[in-house]
Amino acid sequence: METHTLRDFCQQLPKTELHAHLNGSISDHTLTKLMRRRHLGGQNMTSFEKGRSRTLDECFQAFKIIHKLTEDEESVKMVTGDVIKEFSQDGVKYLELRSTPREEEHTGMTRRSYVEAVLNAIRSPEISALDITVRLLLSIDRKNGAMVAMETVKLAQEYLLTSDDCVVGVDLSGNPKVGHWRDFYPALQVARNTGLKLSLHLAEIPGQDEETQALLELRPHRIGHGTFLKASRNGTSELVEHVRKLKIPLELCLTSNVKCQTVKTYHEHHFKFWFDQSHPCTFCTDDKGVFSTTLSEEYGIAATTFGLSPKQLWDISYNSIDFAFAQHDVKDKLRFTWNEHKHLILRK
Ligand SMILES: [Zn+2]
Repeated sequence: METHTLRDFCQQLPKTELHAHLNGSISDHTLTKLMRRRHLGGQNMTSFEKGRSRTLDECFQAFKIIHKLTEDEESVKMVTGDVIKEFSQDGVKYLELRSTPREEEHTGMTRRSYVEAVLNAIRSPEISALDITVRLLLSIDRKNGAMVAMETVKLAQEYLLTSDDCVVGVDLSGNPKVGHWRDFYPALQVARNTGLKLSLHLAEIPGQDEETQALLELRPHRIGHGTFLKASRNGTSELVEHVRKLKIPLELCLTSNVKCQTVKTYHEHHFKFWFDQSHPCTFCTDDKGVFSTTLSEEYGIAATTFGLSPKQLWDISYNSIDFAFAQHDVKDKLRFTWNEHKHLILRK
């Protein structure tokens, strides 16, 4: 398929985005608005130009800068609205945002008011009018320790019951080099046992087999990245077998992994390994703002790198609905929407 045709196809393809961190998804346009509000001039230091890469630690530095710009409820609501609009413009019909409820002493923002601000944006008339369904996962940031992890899960439990199905689960994320899995295990266990869905960043860096093994015991509903699950190139490790047996879907973020240098090149991305075994996989952006990408671009890169046909891209997108954390009736509606688009874009 020619480049421009492929680009159009990926843009028109209805898509599910299952791994998007709210703050990392903020576009340059929105960051400029935030800086103007704070009377900060100068160049945006958070997004990485196309083709540039940074170390994993530098990626987490960028998040620190973004957090400084979103320290009050009004900013959080504004960025949430902008991020959802941008995903919608990119043809995303179902979006699961994830974010760490943050408290900021000097602005008075609490973890609860943070979540409220995100929910207010999702429920606002402007966003409700868009053709996109949004769900929220509350993230446990590894650097915040055991107590905050448990507090986050308690908040998620409460909103699971009171947010009209908007808060659906919990995510474990943050710098994989920080914290010990034993700190988060009890909180994640409580989450798992009380009906919250679990998506865990696992095996993002090498040498974490013990942690991965332990966290897999929780039977997470989805895995973020899973880059180093396969210990050897032919993938005979126990971890691979475990994930394969349980058919745990993988959220794969090609550009994020290449830019953070946990995967050397697109061609070496572990997508191929899992896809060739028909393992459930979905493409995601991770942090579309920080990594200067879109979900359509990620589909395009996957197609070019791995020689995927439009039908294969369609199937990956359609099958991703199965892994969404939304209720069954929502998924049925999404399948209907996809099928409405099918004959329009898969004509050839
Ligand atoms: Zn992530």
